[in-house]
Amino acid sequence: MKFITTRAGAPVSSAEAIVRGIAPDGALYVPEGFPPLSPSALAEMADDSYNDVATKVLAPYLTDFSAEELSEISAAAYGCFADPAVAPLREIGGGLSLLELFHGPTQAFKDMALQMLPRLLAASRKKVGEAREIRILTATSGDTGKAALCGFKDVPGVRVDVFYPDGGVSEVQKRQMTTQDGENLRVFAVRGNFDDAQREVKRIFADEGIRSALDKKGAVLSSANSINLGRLVPQIVYYVYAYAGLVKRGRIAEGDKINVCVPTGNFGNILAAYYAMRMGLPIGRLISASNQNNVLFDFIGTGIYDKNRPFTLTGSPSMDILVSSNLERLLFELSDRDGAAVGAWMEALSVGGRYDIGSAAHARLSDVFCGGWTDDVGTREAIRRAYIDRGVLIDPHTAVALSVCEAYRRQTGDARETVVVSTASPFKFPSFVLSALTDAHVPGDEFEVIRALSDLTGTSAPRQILELPSRPVLHRGVIEIESMKDIII
Ligand SMILES: *Cc1c(COP(=O)(O)O)cnc(C)c1O
Repeated sequence: MKFITTRAGAPVSSAEAIVRGIAPDGALYVPEGFPPLSPSALAEMADDSYNDVATKVLAPYLTDFSAEELSEISAAAYGCFADPAVAPLREIGGGLSLLELFHGPTQAFKDMALQMLPRLLAASRKKVGEAREIRILTATSGDTGKAALCGFKDVPGVRVDVFYPDGGVSEVQKRQMTTQDGENLRVFAVRGNFDDAQREVKRIFADEGIRSALDKKGAVLSSANSINLGRLVPQIVYYVYAYAGLVKRGRIAEGDKINVCVPTGNFGNILAAYYAMRMGLPIGRLISASNQNNVLFDFIGTGIYDKNRPFTLTGSPSMDILVSSNLERLLFELSDRDGAAVGAWMEALSVGGRYDIGSAAHARLSDVFCGGWTDDVGTREAIRRAYIDRGVLIDPHTAVALSVCEAYRRQTGDARETVVVSTASPFKFPSFVLSALTDAHVPGDEFEVIRALSDLTGTSAPRQILELPSRPVLHRGVIEIESMKDIII
């Protein structure tokens, strides 16, 4: 398998695509085709472990790796997960299941990919003979940062700098990052929002001056954001695994279509579901759920992407994003793989903050995708109803998805079996969750809130979160966006 780029760049191998992160022309790597997942192969997965499914799904994409290597890497990556199923499905009634992707070491779905990427990257570096040190730049809306720090801690030959928006992440998310130890890691708060930080990271990537300055020092840039192919491909796995699980439990028959509803920010998670569908996984509708930053909802409805709108900080901060990077990969498919068209849309986005994909591409988009959104009031209501009516405690991002999914089913009457992707532990966002469940006063200290939430619901917080207050803060820097490049150099 080779990987071409969304702007028609030259093909590279999987190992090269992983080491580079982003193509030299600023485009994203995409597979030259989608390896078919046959119905018989899918049927055989019913009794497979997560690792077995991962090996089978990854092998036809990452052809620089043997099946044995992939199996070892995935066993190491998912060995530390708190749930032996890795990505358990929890039925919540009415034809809905939550696909829980937050049982990794940092309690958000980013671990699904960021426990794999460092291992794939270290191996890829050897395979392509890259002797330079790899410098990972990561802009984070809260969860990627910690997951990248945790995954890359002390990985030889790799250094990581994480930039998170000052005041734009939850207290737990902030503590998770600022207490992370590791010789090769740095963390900075930046004055600006996630989009500002992400834009600057992309600019640094495209800056020849910075690249050559680093090259002189024996270093090369790469990315741990979901634009890295090594993150995208491992995310396809859990959709296949969930489908096999539904067949096994008799919720669906082999070949039946399911719907999938995903709380969406940078469009990486839902894009992986789309890739799974293109491989042959029977998916009917992909429902993209947004919070008040609902640029994707408008795009799916109209075919016009317009980021010129107010940016809102919400209770689901990992989705506070107005420029969804991975959408570029979907545009490539919607345009029938027309790199020039994608390039023109991306240019229009960077110049005027807006592009229109036209009616043909929009029709293709509407065939599969539909969108919905809710604000913080709707999110709190979904948390409360899920707890009272379904007996399940969910985080705000999952609640956005559940709310959108329920509205979709009411409005369309589409009652197909649906997987709602559950992306974080509720204990990562305890103040928001507690305030949704009770009218009582919510304490100011987030770690007191965690205790109150545990007491109220009789559930215990993950150990790693409970330990945070006793861990020393190691990273205190607050910087301007303009200083990011100096810090890198
Ligand atoms: C990152 C994240 C999302 C959004 O996922 P994308 O792949 O960026 O669309 C949703 N929920 C949580 C908890 C996240 O960390």
